[in-house]
Amino acid sequence: MVDPTLSLKDFPGRAELESLLLTLLPESWVEAVRSGDEEAVELLKEGLNKPVVVRTLGEAGWVAPHYAVEHGGRGLSRDDAVAALTLLNVWDVPHVPGGSGLPLAAPTIEQWADDDTKRHLLPPLVSGAQRWCQLFSEPGAGSDMASLATTAVRDGDEWVVNGQKVWTTFGHHSERAMLIARTDPDLPKHKGITYFGLDMKAPGVEIRPLINIAGQLEFNEVFLTDVRVPDIDRIGPVGEGWAAAMTTLGAERHALSGSGKKKRRASDEILGGKPYAEVEQMAVLRGIGGDPVARQRLMNEYIAGRVLTMNLQRARDRAAAGYAPGPEGSLTKISKAASNQHLQEVAIELLGADAMAWMPDDLETPEWIAQFLRTRANSIEGGTSEIQRNIIGERVLGLPREPDAFKGQPWRLVPRS
Ligand SMILES: Cc1cc2nc3c(=O)[nH]c(=O)nc-3n(C[C@H](O)[C@H](O)[C@H](O)COP(=O)(O)OP(=O)(O)OC[C@H]3O[C@@H](n4cnc5c(N)ncnc54)[C@H](O)[C@@H]3O)c2cc1C
Repeated sequence: MVDPTLSLKDFPGRAELESLLLTLLPESWVEAVRSGDEEAVELLKEGLNKPVVVRTLGEAGWVAPHYAVEHGGRGLSRDDAVAALTLLNVWDVPHVPGGSGLPLAAPTIEQWADDDTKRHLLPPLVSGAQRWCQLFSEPGAGSDMASLATTAVRDGDEWVVNGQKVWTTFGHHSERAMLIARTDPDLPKHKGITYFGLDMKAPGVEIRPLINIAGQLEFNEVFLTDVRVPDIDRIGPVGEGWAAAMTTLGAERHALSGSGKKKRRASDEILGGKPYAEVEQMAVLRGIGGDPVARQRLMNEYIAGRVLTMNLQRARDRAAAGYAPGPEGSLTKISKAASNQHLQEVAIELLGADAMAWMPDDLETPEWIAQFLRTRANSIEGGTSEIQRNIIGERVLGLPREPDAFKGQPWRLVPRS
């Protein structure tokens, strides 16, 4: 096997990055990469202190090498940055901080924040020193997010925020949040919103855990009472929060559709669920791999998975050709959610009566059930499949927009549920 690192394109700082990697990774890792032994790398990952590796790479500017140095990057050109990230991928080194900071908050900050705010928010984000969550949804504003009622009132160099958010994934593990709040109730609902990077440890932020259907603590309610937010934490101009939130949501659809992924190991690290290969293996181990009905169900799932993979490749190619994530993210998000949910349903059918009751020492079946239950959220999280269909209808097919009896009315005059 030829050492795959040898054929990689050169970029400024490559030698520095390679010697940093040699200090971070055990020698056996380097040998496994050079000999193409993926299994050995997987095993070595279990012993790696991932946060330390990500932090070190981030502080040296390698997590987002295309960002300016003062924004936590290395100021590389797009091509050079791709070459640097390709090297990290070939070395199979973890380099993405946990939480929604890098995939969702960073592109929004890059596009909308002024320079001082970028210098303030980006470096701790890219190094993973500050993990981010998303404070968009409210009890009365989910699909119709622009109806949100959380307020931010200016007081000198600060904003005073009051309201309630819900569904905040990993809010209990986050240092910062993407917050959208109403700054002018006299404007129509989409106009009077402003975007902030909220300090989750600030006085007045109260996080209350919610337990999901699978019994896991994944998301929270967040209550905001007289929280003071410095103006430097404002992302984008006052009143432009809706447009900035669209940047975040476009990136979220892209992430949930799987378009940016190099390879999938589990069914999906974000969406949950067992991968196809495990479902097939379970059928074989249970002696039903030859059953014509089981084979037919499995083959349907296999074909759906292949079609999805090809569509994802198309989306990736568009991105590589320099197009911003567009409405095609909605197509892949809907089909990814549907195919993941169908696959888990087939798994439960194949488990048969065992999926309803199991012995206390059976640790495997509850895991299948938990994965099945988790994937019920796939058609809700990041925008429901119904809303994604509306987006496709309006933006891709050019159908008329949904009627809105209160269009153009000041937000404070619009009735809310
Ligand atoms: C696991 C999970 C994690 C989440 N994480 C976060 C997070 O970190 N941060 C965050 O801010 N939010 C998060 N959310 C919230 C998510 O974005 C919302 O749940 C979603 O946008 C739907 O809003 P809602 O729950 O208020 O439902 P509603 O908007 O009340 O919708 C109820 C039903 O009505 C349908 N519906 C509503 N409007 C229309 C319409 N115009 N046309 C057709 N059908 C319609 C919907 O499709 C849905 O079936 C998360 C949700 C889940 C499930």
